[in-house]
Amino acid sequence: MSYDFKSNASREYLENIIDLNHITIIHLSGTTYDPDVVNIQKKAIIINNNYQSNFSYEFRIAHELAHLLCTTSSENYNLSLLTKNDIEKQANIDGIQLLINFYFSEIASGKLRWNYRFQFISTFGLGPLTHLVEKILNPIKNSV
Ligand SMILES: [Zn+2]
Repeated sequence: MSYDFKSNASREYLENIIDLNHITIIHLSGTTYDPDVVNIQKKAIIINNNYQSNFSYEFRIAHELAHLLCTTSSENYNLSLLTKNDIEKQANIDGIQLLINFYFSEIASGKLRWNYRFQFISTFGLGPLTHLVEKILNPIKNSV
């Protein structure tokens, strides 16, 4: 049994968040080594069409959106104590959470969500972040 999910609907969901928050998204064609970037002051996401990434386009957008939208949680910390790794990890967690909110919008059961986790991971190319997805979706120990 598999969970029927329309993946192009997730692009509309993300585009909606982008519009509602007056965020600008720019697509560039850089080299395969130039990662996507975000400019927080200008509320802009810059996606490199040629960037070589195993992550899905949707997760790449969700990750950059997380940098723009989820800054309140990091305001509780002394920013100078946060390393780049901490910031990237938090954007991964918040980006995964954004996709979970949409992907599992019709599945309230934590146990069912957990059972569908590999389908979620493969839909968004999240293989390298399996440990984070499992921490977030774990119905028993729900802490990251
Ligand atoms: Zn990032």
